[in-house]
Amino acid sequence: MRILVVEDEKNVAAAVRKGLETEGYAVDTAADGSEGLWYATENPYDVIVLDIMLPKLDGFGVCRELRNAGVWTPIIMLTARTAEQDEATALDLGADDYLSKPFSLVVLKAHIRALVRRGSEPRPSSIEVGALSIDPAARKCRVSDRSVELTSREFSVIEFLARNPDRVVSKLDVLDNVWDYNFDGDPNIVEVYVRRLRTKLALPESGPAISTVRGSGYMLEVPAKSPAALENPENSV
Ligand code: CA
Repeated sequence: MRILVVEDEKNVAAAVRKGLETEGYAVDTAADGSEGLWYATENPYDVIVLDIMLPKLDGFGVCRELRNAGVWTPIIMLTARTAEQDEATALDLGADDYLSKPFSLVVLKAHIRALVRRGSEPRPSSIEVGALSIDPAARKCRVSDRSVELTSREFSVIEFLARNPDRVVSKLDVLDNVWDYNFDGDPNIVEVYVRRLRTKLALPESGPAISTVRGSGYMLEVPAKSPAALENPENSV
């Protein structure tokens, strides 16, 4: 097992290295973000432990660039205890886990073991459903090559539908996930948003489509595979 630790605080990096080496892991350390990015791109690691506050390129930048480059090594981000937003950002950018500082080595090792079990399957941080592409971190939405301006609420509604493709979601599901707990207005507000999304997104014939399921709710229907893809299964990886 090979682990990369990207951390500029020398004593933290040294303690983590020592702790992991006693478990039999091979450990490399990098002291800034660009060095970390280089190591992580050039070598196969089983897990990357990545600090956020780093010289040259911060941990968010390292994580984003690795995922954009198709490197899916599991990443644990080290966050500040008081910064919940950091944890959310880390996960949105494609990190797999986070640990707030200060942390104990015993806990870090347990998190590493859990990630190693999971392996480095591709886990894109953007959600792709047919021609629709949603980037939750950047709050950007694209249909084919066209970027679509959405309000924050509209974005949350389409994000929720895109996270549940080919599943019927009720108006109440949408309300529970998109509106805050205190909302006690008319659930039909969801209809208004779906109508606006259909207009703004103008989804192409090739799909997906936001369908109304009478009496139940809505479904983002995934387009069927194109005939070309079905004819040449050896082309799909
Ligand atoms: Ca640091």
